[in-house]
Amino acid sequence: MIMSELYGSMVFCDKVMSKRLPKETYAELKRCCELDLPLSLEVANVIANEMKEWAIEKGVTHFTHWFQPMTGITAEKHDSFIAPTKSGEVIMELSGKELIKGEPDASSFPNGGLRSTFEARGYTAWDPTSYAFIKDGILCIPTAFCSYNGDALDKKTPLLRSMEAINRQGVRLLRLLGRKTERLDVTVGSEQEYFLVDTKEFEKRKDLFYTGRTLFGARPPKGQELDDHYFGAIKPRVVRYMKELDEELWKLGILAKTKHNEVAPAQHEFAPIYTSVNVASDQNQLTMEMMKKVASRHGMTCLLHEKPFGGVNGSGKHNNWSLCTNFGHNLFEPGSSPQDNAQFLLILAAVIAAVDKHQDLLRISVASAGNDHRLGANEAPPAIVSMFLGDEITGILQAIADGRTFSSRANCEVKLGVHVLPKFAMDRSDRNRTSPFAFTGNKFEFRMPGSAQSIAGVNVVLNTILAEQFEEFADELEKEKDLSAGISRIIKRVMTEHGRIIFNGNNYSEEWVEEAERRGLLNLKSTVDALPLLTSEKNIKLFESQNVFTERELRSREEIYTETYCRLVNIEAMTMLDIATEQILPAAIKYKGELVKVAENSIKIGVPADTETEMATTLARLIGSANQKTAALRTALEKAHKTGEHISGGRCFCDEVLPAMSELRSVCDELELNTAKEYWPLPSYGDILFSIY
Ligand code: ADP
Ligand code: MG
Repeated sequence: MIMSELYGSMVFCDKVMSKRLPKETYAELKRCCELDLPLSLEVANVIANEMKEWAIEKGVTHFTHWFQPMTGITAEKHDSFIAPTKSGEVIMELSGKELIKGEPDASSFPNGGLRSTFEARGYTAWDPTSYAFIKDGILCIPTAFCSYNGDALDKKTPLLRSMEAINRQGVRLLRLLGRKTERLDVTVGSEQEYFLVDTKEFEKRKDLFYTGRTLFGARPPKGQELDDHYFGAIKPRVVRYMKELDEELWKLGILAKTKHNEVAPAQHEFAPIYTSVNVASDQNQLTMEMMKKVASRHGMTCLLHEKPFGGVNGSGKHNNWSLCTNFGHNLFEPGSSPQDNAQFLLILAAVIAAVDKHQDLLRISVASAGNDHRLGANEAPPAIVSMFLGDEITGILQAIADGRTFSSRANCEVKLGVHVLPKFAMDRSDRNRTSPFAFTGNKFEFRMPGSAQSIAGVNVVLNTILAEQFEEFADELEKEKDLSAGISRIIKRVMTEHGRIIFNGNNYSEEWVEEAERRGLLNLKSTVDALPLLTSEKNIKLFESQNVFTERELRSREEIYTETYCRLVNIEAMTMLDIATEQILPAAIKYKGELVKVAENSIKIGVPADTETEMATTLARLIGSANQKTAALRTALEKAHKTGEHISGGRCFCDEVLPAMSELRSVCDELELNTAKEYWPLPSYGDILFSIY
């Protein structure tokens, strides 16, 4: 199929709607989307009917409201279009009401106390800003998911609210600066890392199967030390996979753009072209689903876990984020006139203040049991939030803060307002790969998110903290007669109070950890350290004042995330106990028995068996130790179970269960190195990481 026919062929997109809907209906839909107004039932009926006709032409018989509960993945329940007629036949129907609103039983989705079971109904509401699409022969209608009294039970609702918040305050600030801006949109492009392994190997490992990561595994002779995988030639089987993935995504209207090999063996990266954050978030969910689905057609399994393998790099997701006005102007693009630059520097100051004030929230937004293995492990940014601006911009901001008119760093005169400020000679190659939050020329790249997580959460935080800062600046400038004096004063204040968050050096270094501590920056090492801060007074006030979360909704999130953390670590620990007792110990004992038998027989006939004896002795010691560590893990786990799935239980999982797991793993990995391959029950790291060739 040619590209123009392929691209978006499964999407009820703007082009299709403008062609198929009656003119007035189409205009009304556009108007409602732009002004965030509800659609009337008459209009919804017309749209629903046309959507159904379009879907039927493509062989579709069912539809679903597609939503994103707090499990972090997507949910769907399929209903067919059929409706009986009086004459006993069926017709295919989709009413406006069915399009706009669904009522799935919500009792089995996480709700963190937001909904008692007697009011189990939740409802899904159509989000017309994200197009309906066809996936696996089902018409999928993107929706928000709420409880009966309107509490958000999903990831999309707060994201939409945060977009409104930043739009509200951003437009207000820009108007004060003399702009005619009517709308401010958030645009996001998320780079996605993943691993591909052969399904035959995957299926032999219960740890990968149940938890998405390997819980045992000695280091292979070759890992990523030669740096020969990054950007290397892609293996033919993977090329075929990537081609099919691109095509599937294009059909869904996803602008799949970049693909390459990543640092670790078997690791790859995918990136689309950026788009509006709500759509980008929906599309990232779809992309992850498609990655898995297409892999299975090629006999491969796609691993999205943040740390599938110990000792080699894990996977992240880079959230590239910027703000765009309805005139297509990117607010993070340095300007060419003094006035533009004053605006640009003011917006940057807002980001600096917001990130410094809310380091905790950014850390929380990427907190998960999986991502804890990655942050600070010399492959991803540390758990300390800081931002990179590059020497040039930092120099200019510092010069303004110091009241100097010349920035030697940027080699230019720094004046805001009337005087001519030379266009910044922004060096786009001025990059820092280790920063958690880096300015990359015309966007910020947030590099802490984990590969498996939805990007909705991080963008809710980014949008909301910036909305609050915009509000603060707008309140201040509203009272100001001399705009450029006001802007200079704000920049100066932000640099004095929040300049500590800027760090242009190596974030992976030990010195930075010490320096960050001196600066008073937070270092929330684990999910359990971070989560309790979600409902601090500061954060409740922030989210309530920007209408993004009510206190109840925020508390429910803290409860759900804590519960999820406990459950994930629990599954991992149980899986380890299973594998250790049912597979590893029996295998090692069997091999030791074999060695003992050989030694005995040799000695009987006078042949020396020193090596066999020594090997068996080593094994006996390791087996004893593994058995002990298994018991210790069991004890730690029992304690965690008794403590419960609250934050104290989380602490127990983090401080006692995880260390016990890592001790058990290290003895078992040593056992692996001392056991003949034919006896070892699991494919080795080498077998899995190099399974695709
Ligand atoms: P990298 O060097 O990190 O691979 P790229 O420049 O290739 O970065 O871009 C990575 C992602 O950033 C892509 O998804 C791209 O579409 C997105 N991106 C580029 N410009 C913007 C922007 N203004 N806003 C949001 N995302 C953007
Ligand atoms: Mg990147």
